[in-house]
Amino acid sequence: MGIPVTLIPGDGIGPSIAAATVKVIDASGAQIDWDSQLAGMAAVGKYGDPIPDRTLDSIKRTQLALKGPLETPVGEGYRSINVALRKTFDLYANVRPAYSIVPGGRYQNLDLVLIRENTEGLYVGVEHYIKIGDDQRAAAESIAIITRGGSERIARYAFEYAVKHGRKKVTLVHKANILKFSQGLFLDTGRAVAREYAGRVAFEERIVDAMAMNLVLNPERYDVIVTTNLFGDILSDLISGLVGGLGLAPGANIGLHGAIFEAVHGTAPDIAGQGIANPGALILAACMMLEHIGQPDRAGRVRRALEGVIRDGKTVTRDLGGSAKTDEFADAIIARL
Ligand code: NAD
Repeated sequence: MGIPVTLIPGDGIGPSIAAATVKVIDASGAQIDWDSQLAGMAAVGKYGDPIPDRTLDSIKRTQLALKGPLETPVGEGYRSINVALRKTFDLYANVRPAYSIVPGGRYQNLDLVLIRENTEGLYVGVEHYIKIGDDQRAAAESIAIITRGGSERIARYAFEYAVKHGRKKVTLVHKANILKFSQGLFLDTGRAVAREYAGRVAFEERIVDAMAMNLVLNPERYDVIVTTNLFGDILSDLISGLVGGLGLAPGANIGLHGAIFEAVHGTAPDIAGQGIANPGALILAACMMLEHIGQPDRAGRVRRALEGVIRDGKTVTRDLGGSAKTDEFADAIIARL
């Protein structure tokens, strides 16, 4: 009996990169029982529901999911499934590592992890328009909610992550100079948690605007970064840009009773159906999942095989400067395994 994992192939390029990822992970010797389920447009097509109960039930049972990208209609239609899944399973920590793989990039030897609070802040969805005179939408208000409990658990997650992965420093990113209440609470709570780890993990604070500049000028100075939801959303894309872009950016959404691993990129409608998508980000997300379930050695082997294929440069997809198909890229990784 393998470990049960819900597999959500997703929309657009999702099914092809998910198939490639499953092939690589199975070839690594990991014993996984994949329970394939639909969400997003694929689920609307089959069940008339972007997030069917059977998919939610599967994740409740397995408490583990590997998810391809899902299409979210802009402005109208259903709200983001990704946000709904994070809320349903209280996946409060979004973990986005970025390290240099592609040779010849602007930065060599980067190895950063951004930990983003995933459930609070401006993303709680408390928004409304304010009518003035005849204008129904004369003003709009979006409320950021930060709690001590939410701030404490994400700060603690960041420090525990640092301890577990042998990392030296946590940088807390905030805007408490302007948003004295909400960001101030996040900062004060983070400082209190940091004191518990004094002598084991170094701690520093950065204001988000200065941090954006520093990440471009001197990214090698940073190790683990922890921040609130909106800043984390923006800075995590920034750090993926430091190491070659979205094609190799994995992410994990982690809570007490579940974890969902995914690629950071979307459904790539411009290349969907052509068999040329890079499965690297989803394979790296699956490696994070293997680590999460206590198989770090196997995760390391898959990662080294992937890195080897990329550095070799002969069988890589178009976004990495090659001409290999999704399948050929996966097969080259398997050959190295
Ligand atoms: P996108 O990430 O899909 O595409 C941006 C660019 O990157 C495109 O040029 C695309 O071809 C390229 N790209 C992305 N992944 C690639 C890969 N694996 N290999 C090669 N090239 C790749 O972003 P978008 O176009 O803004 O969004 C498209 C759809 O995806 C939208 O419906 C959006 O809501 C959804 N989306 C979903 C998720 C998710 O499910 N986690 C995340 C982001 C966007």
